Amino acid sequence: MALESINPATGEVVARYEEMKPQQVEEILQQAHQAFQSWRRTPFARRADLLREAARVLRGRAQEYARLMALEMGKPVRDGRAEVEKCAWACEYYAEKGEAFLAPELVETDASKSYVSYQPLGVVLAVMPWNFPFWQVIRFAAPGLMAGNVGVLKHASNVSGCALALEELFREAGFPENTFRTLLVSSKQVEAIIENRHVMAVTLTGSTPAGRAVAARAGAMLKKTVLELGGSDPYVVLEDADLAAAVETCVAGRMINGGQSCIAAKRFIVVDAVREEFQARVVEQMASYQPGDPLDEATRMGPLARVDLRDELHAQVQESIRQGARCLLGGEVPPGPGAYYPPTVLADVGPGMPAYHEELFGPVATIIAARDETDAIRIANDTAFGLGAAVFTRDVARGERIAREELQAGSCFVNAFVKSDPRLPFGGVKESGYGRELSYHGIREFVNVKTVWIR
Ligand code: NDP
Repeated sequence: MALESINPATGEVVARYEEMKPQQVEEILQQAHQAFQSWRRTPFARRADLLREAARVLRGRAQEYARLMALEMGKPVRDGRAEVEKCAWACEYYAEKGEAFLAPELVETDASKSYVSYQPLGVVLAVMPWNFPFWQVIRFAAPGLMAGNVGVLKHASNVSGCALALEELFREAGFPENTFRTLLVSSKQVEAIIENRHVMAVTLTGSTPAGRAVAARAGAMLKKTVLELGGSDPYVVLEDADLAAAVETCVAGRMINGGQSCIAAKRFIVVDAVREEFQARVVEQMASYQPGDPLDEATRMGPLARVDLRDELHAQVQESIRQGARCLLGGEVPPGPGAYYPPTVLADVGPGMPAYHEELFGPVATIIAARDETDAIRIANDTAFGLGAAVFTRDVARGERIAREELQAGSCFVNAFVKSDPRLPFGGVKESGYGRELSYHGIREFVNVKTVWIR
């Protein structure tokens, strides 16, 4: 079977990649395991130099990588370049901080010396999605390689060109052969890869069903997992919010990557006192996004990544309308080729509707009415997900309290949209997954936290 990359702006096949056979996969895993034997003994300083070199290669090839993303999954090129820059930042961040994050920690006991030592695990499998084809991978690879692990990547089937470019990036940066390898396989082969004796742990970013499948197999094999799954991030807008700023931030948060982000703003929960005005402003701002050719420098919003995903989103919108949601903008599939979907606003969204309970992975703003703060918090938490959340109020102390104590999510922002930052941990609770990426928390996920005790 071939893995196909289809340009979502035109529907044309960009490239076909032959899927690797199980025997080839076994050989690569064997080679990666071999590479680990020397990589784990490579000094931190050397690993840091190579990561800095990877950052340099990323910056040098930013335009090329942005074009590849545009062709395979429709990201506007200027967003693609920004993504590549963020990847370079993460490489440099772990180059600088990684050794300190993993420094031995002395603990006073009855031993003459006892301490905690962080040792790498070996080959870590990364199952990654197409929405940020470079960032999702670097987010795992930079700390992983710095810790002394080696990485094998099973990328989403529609971005094989990006997957190969990532493998080549580490090669070009000078990393030893087989410290980072790409496996061109469909999801059907993932179970067998998890079972492989050389694979020590798995990290997955993607949908909740994919997370469940991978975690179940890894659990049966007693292999550690980190899961960063879907989200339906609530954005609570209170009566004392600076409405103009809140709307601007909410819409920008919703439209990240054409709405195809796990931490995009997905449910706007707005108290009655300001809801009418919020709705009107959201419609105006959402309407200012014009879907266009992702290769065009002026484009702010491209097509969605695949036609099937666009159709799934449209079905969620249609079903929500059927159940009583009011469509204030968009909501219709445009004629012509490509996986385009217009900016859409749904108001009067309530329990039972897909827009209330499910992740809407595209440019659809969902507005849910709340009576007051208590009601808004209840609705915000009335979800299976728990990835990110935000609250808007002029009373910063009030916002901080709600963010810290009330909202059930891994990242809660006040008067800002949720974004990832290499310096801060990133991950979810509930069905958004478990474990953390980034910061020192991320680099310590895939290590043996080893106790050393000397009489
Ligand atoms: P998936 O979650 O299906 O894909 C993500 C990755 O997991 C891909 O590499 C995929 O491989 C792999 N995968 C899928 N199913 C399995 C499985 N059973 N066992 C092992 N690996 C698997 O996302 P889709 O592309 O299908 O998107 C569907 C929905 O998922 C979106 O509409 C969105 O709601 C959500 N999603 C969330 C993301 C996030 O960042 N939280 C990112 C992407 C999607 P392959 O491509 O070969 O199927």
